Amino acid sequence: MTTSQGLDAGQEIDSQCLKCKRVTNHIIIAMAEGKIAKVECNVCGARHKYRPPKIKKSKKVTKKKKVAKKAPKIPISQIKAEAHFEKIMEGLDSSTAKPYFMTETFSKDDLIDHSIFGMGLITSIIQPNKIEVTFKVGSKLLICKVKNPLKK
Ligand SMILES: [Zn+2]
Repeated sequence: MTTSQGLDAGQEIDSQCLKCKRVTNHIIIAMAEGKIAKVECNVCGARHKYRPPKIKKSKKVTKKKKVAKKAPKIPISQIKAEAHFEKIMEGLDSSTAKPYFMTETFSKDDLIDHSIFGMGLITSIIQPNKIEVTFKVGSKLLICKVKNPLKK
């Protein structure tokens, strides 16, 4: 009897052998309803029911899949800086911001537009050539000319 799977008595097939305690090469000795009924172990000669070789489950611990990318954590200091920035920017007209250049002259409370940090407000004059500017990313010290240097 030939089955659709092409299996028939006399063919070799891998089966578990209880005597050998492992998967060995067997010969099909009996078929039943298109299925393998009996096999004979090629190693020890034992005849038994066909036991399909189990697919050994890999014991390797599968690497944990990376959790779906979370939005990068924003440090609290950053959040505070942003909140602070938004607060001080309230009511200020950002269109009055002057592009920041080291050679430019600024004074306190000037709005500046920095090429890297973006919009910022000059919150204090540190030195005649140094200003503290509050940006969205926080406060930065910048070098520039100051219109009204600190009066001692
Ligand atoms: Zn065997």
